[in-house]
Amino acid sequence: MVRGNAKAKAQEKNAKKQAEKTSAKSSLGKSNESLVLKCHVCMALMKNAKQMKEHFESKHPKVAMPAECIGGG
Ligand SMILES: [Zn+2]
Repeated sequence: MVRGNAKAKAQEKNAKKQAEKTSAKSSLGKSNESLVLKCHVCMALMKNAKQMKEHFESKHPKVAMPAECIGGG
């Protein structure tokens, strides 16, 4: 039964290693694709249509919202 326990521990270690690898990778990917939309009024960069919609509502309430903000739901 000791052997089985050791195996489980090894798997745990491996899982931890994999998680560290994955998180490092995903954080790198995020920095690349986090800012995708640009406000055509003040050139501010937004992460997604929802953020852009909120930005327009608070910063440019009198400017017509871009189609991608309305279509996104
Ligand atoms: Zn703006």
